[in-house]
Order: sequence, then C-alpha cells, then structure tokens
Amino acid sequence: MTINSPDAPHATLRLAADANASRKAGAILAGGGLVAFPTETVYGLGADATDAKAIARLYATKGRPLFNPLIAHVDTVEKALALGKFSQQARRLAEAFWPGPLTLVVPAAPDCPVCELARAGLPSLAIRVPDHPVARAVLAAAGKPIAAPSANRSGHVSPTNPAHVLADLDGLLDALVEAGPTQIGVESTIVACLDEEVRLLRPGGVPREALARVLGHPLSAPRTDGTKPLAPGRLASHYAPRHPVRLDATAVNPGEACLAFGTPLPPGADPALTLNLSESGSLVEAAANLYRHLRALDALPVTGIAAMGIPDAALGEAIRDRLLRAAAPRETAQENFT
Ligand code: AMP
Ligand code: MG
Repeated sequence: MTINSPDAPHATLRLAADANASRKAGAILAGGGLVAFPTETVYGLGADATDAKAIARLYATKGRPLFNPLIAHVDTVEKALALGKFSQQARRLAEAFWPGPLTLVVPAAPDCPVCELARAGLPSLAIRVPDHPVARAVLAAAGKPIAAPSANRSGHVSPTNPAHVLADLDGLLDALVEAGPTQIGVESTIVACLDEEVRLLRPGGVPREALARVLGHPLSAPRTDGTKPLAPGRLASHYAPRHPVRLDATAVNPGEACLAFGTPLPPGADPALTLNLSESGSLVEAAANLYRHLRALDALPVTGIAAMGIPDAALGEAIRDRLLRAAAPRETAQENFT
C-alpha cells in the first residue's frame, strides 16, 4: 500500500470493521499514513505519534494550528503508564477509568517516544486508552502511540459517524474504518495531573462527579498563567456550525431551527425544524445525538439555531461546554482549534 501525499487527493480506502480491517489500518498507520477510526467518543483521525512527518500531515489535513497538542492513544493501560510520569492520583484515575473517555495530561516520561510536534513542544503529554473494540484493535495492530484528534477539519463539528468523516475529509485520508455511530458522542474529559492538584481541563465523556468520587475530593479549577489557558487550543470558538447558535432558549423565533431537550417543546418551535437531543431528558442520549443533530440543523435554510437549556450536571457539563463554543462569536472563527 502506498501512502498518498497530502496534496494529491485520492479515494479514501473504506474498510468495514473486522480483524482484517484493523490489521490493515494498523499497518497503514505504522507506515506513516492517516487512518480515521471509531472510538467510543467520536471518530478519530489517527497518525503515528512518534513520526513527525505523519503528524505534520495530520495537522495539515485538519488545518489544525501547530501549537495545539495532540492526545496519544494506546490500546492498553500498561502501555499508557509507560509514556508518562503518573502521580498516585493520576494512577488512581487511570485504573478507574481506562479504557474509557478520560484523557490524562501528565509529565512525559524521559524516554517518551511521542514526537515534539505532537506534543506542541510541551514537557507534558496527553494520554488515553479508548474503550472501543475497533479502536483498540487498530491501536494494537499499529503497535505505536497514535495521535487521534477528531476526524474533522479544524473548527468543524466533530464526527460521530463515518458519513461525517467523509463529508470533511474524503480523499485526504488513506483509510477510514467504518463501524457505525459512536456511543458517547462527545470528546474525552481532559484532566491534568502535573502537580499535586488534579485539574479539569475539558469536560467530556467522564462526568466530573465520577472523577471526584474516585479521588475522594472535587477537582481543582484549571490553572491559567495570566492569559494563556493551561490546555492549549481550548479557546472560545470550537465546534462551530455555520448558523448562529442561541443558548438556553426558552422560545424559538420565526425562521430559527430548534435543538430541543426534553418535552414540551418551547413556544414557537416548528416540528419540521426541530431535533430533540433526548425527548426523555437523558443526558447520555443527548451527548450521543449532539453533533449529529447540530450538523443536521446547520444544513437547514434557517436564520439560526435556538438551543434549549441543558442541566449543568453529569454529561450536561460537556454538552453545555460544546454548545457554548458552538455559540461563540464568529469574529473568532479563525480561532477554531478542534
Ligand atoms: P482533541 O482536540 O480532542 O484531540 O484534544 C486535544 C486537546 O488536549 C488539546 O486541544 C489540548 O487542549 C489538550 N492537550 C493535549 N496535550 C496537552 C498537554 N500536554 N497539556 C495540556 N493540554 C493538552
Ligand atoms: Mg476535535
């Protein structure tokens, strides 16, 4: 299999997930190629995290700024622990939540093979063991840490099914392993364990309450060094749909689509222009539907998207975080760093 250069678009090889596909995908990754594959959160765009050339191509393909570091994915907890220096608290979280939708930022191990470019030059490293059989089979076959940010162009809504991946990146990838919609639907929770504090950098698939239960205390707020956020790339406008998004809407204006949560629908909602994240008010179901519904509403000829309020607890924190970024002013659209 030849690896295609980024400037020569070609048909993306589509692989239905099976043992053969995982082996092939792993071999392409190990050879420096780009392969999109499912995880339990969203579809990831994989590249060998130890290969600066492959990582440079990944950044170029996504249009992602080089100062936004990537998460290294491996298939076992043992391999993950070897990549960094884990405090007692970090180890406790790793043991409780891996494999799963938790990313731990820890000091990189002295012999950490992840390239500088993937780490954006930082002395720390973000690590995750995904909980998806296809992801883990692909990672096992690759045999190296794999950087796998969401498989979308930077600034676009993250992909939760193979069609979303192709809509953004068809012809720019070497292969896509297809395995239906992802289960969780929002990205991993990112937690930094760089000193004695455990800090939440990004709400995600593991609710902060669950982390606090394991730690026996609440998480600290993210530290900032003046103006810079501790988690590079986490700036206001992420996950940007084309249409303006209005948060915590209690009524829908004429011409607006409605992103509903629970029932009844708010006054003014047109059922033909409404998608419900979860009629029963389930936050788990809402997270799984979030990006698909945002994409579908964004494709409608409407003036904006009125998003109903979501409770700020459990997975609701991650959903609210993503909606807040979807609603951020478009003046900062060039600062979309997904
Ligand atoms: P994603 O864009 O979903 O792949 O998530 C990557 C995010 O992880 C980045 O945008 C950062 O916010 C965070 N991240 C990765 N590496 C580090 C690191 N060394 N220190 C702090 N945050 C990191
Ligand atoms: Mg992303």
